[in-house]
Amino acid sequence: MTDHVDYAVQAEALEKRYGEKRALAGFDLHVRRGTVHGLLGPNGAGKTTAVRALATLLSLDSGRALVAGVDVRREPRRVRAKIGLTGQYAAVDEMLTGRQNLEMFGRLFHLGGGRARRRAVELLAQFDLVDAADNGVDTYSGGMRRRLDLAASMILAPDVLFLDEPTTGLDPRGRGEVWVAIRELVAGGTTVLLTTQYLEEADRLASRVTVIDQGRAIADDTPDELKNTVGGDRIEVVVSDAADLDTALRAVSRVAANVPQTDPAERRVHAAVTDRVAALTDVARTLQDAGVAVEDIGLRRPSLDDVFLRLTGHRTEPAEQAAAEKTGTAEKTAAAEKTEESVA
Ligand code: ATP
Repeated sequence: MTDHVDYAVQAEALEKRYGEKRALAGFDLHVRRGTVHGLLGPNGAGKTTAVRALATLLSLDSGRALVAGVDVRREPRRVRAKIGLTGQYAAVDEMLTGRQNLEMFGRLFHLGGGRARRRAVELLAQFDLVDAADNGVDTYSGGMRRRLDLAASMILAPDVLFLDEPTTGLDPRGRGEVWVAIRELVAGGTTVLLTTQYLEEADRLASRVTVIDQGRAIADDTPDELKNTVGGDRIEVVVSDAADLDTALRAVSRVAANVPQTDPAERRVHAAVTDRVAALTDVARTLQDAGVAVEDIGLRRPSLDDVFLRLTGHRTEPAEQAAAEKTGTAEKTAAAEKTEESVA
């Protein structure tokens, strides 16, 4: 593999095993400089393992990776000087104010007192935290905390920033705030590798997305192309009376981008559409003119689950199972880190 200047991350055939489990099973990734690249996959797919390996926090069994042009296995220290990493859980100190937290991180990174203070002021402005700068972090909303966490990881303005599920657990407003902050980072020249379980998040932020399943990249494409593989946005109509299904089918056919499907048991007709709002308006009006009573009508965006079903033939696991696995994974990861630290 030659160092290609256009790429901030180049990874080929990465392998990481935990006993019998291949957390990374020949994983490939190419991230263009100055972009947001999404790493999309369900719980347990290998996202965190990939990010931690690229960030030099865990050792690989084999494969080769360059981050900001530096080999992660040969020169981990040099890689660490060029990257930032934020996890799913904010690392900020609840007892301090936003400003104090950033100054503390500045000193941890060996900036002098004056530089740490100036950097804190810049970051508070960049992440829209000026008004709350001198309030305790315990008074911050979820979105504000996550923005502070992002700011902390930007103290040294890294070339490459790894964001591991940066909006997990946030409400829609907090999620939107974090998205704005991430866009600003990239406008400033940072390359972002973002792991997420949300197709919508990858769609909003990333110019390219790698889908990961069982430790391997199973797709690498633009969000639009990924959505197209699952048929893009869909319109769904549920009629109150099954006798009206044919009328609904004709109404949906007028706007459909593919052959509409009927689901008689649920009195439902659905189809892919290209122009979402025009399709919705057209179908609603046609059904109203025909005097059809509609129980539900709406637009549905494809989800990660839809992409998975199309790419792999299986669904992502149910939420409860994933949550249970997640708890297990967190414990296992902590244990593995200990082992690797003591080896290092
Ligand atoms: P999540 O969203 O839950 O973090 P993920 O896509 O990041 O999921 P990983 O945490 O990378 O997935 O885990 C990939 C696989 O490797 C999972 O099956 C997980 O259980 C396993 N795994 C991860 N870390 C360890 C470990 N330290 N010991 C044993 N197995 C592990």
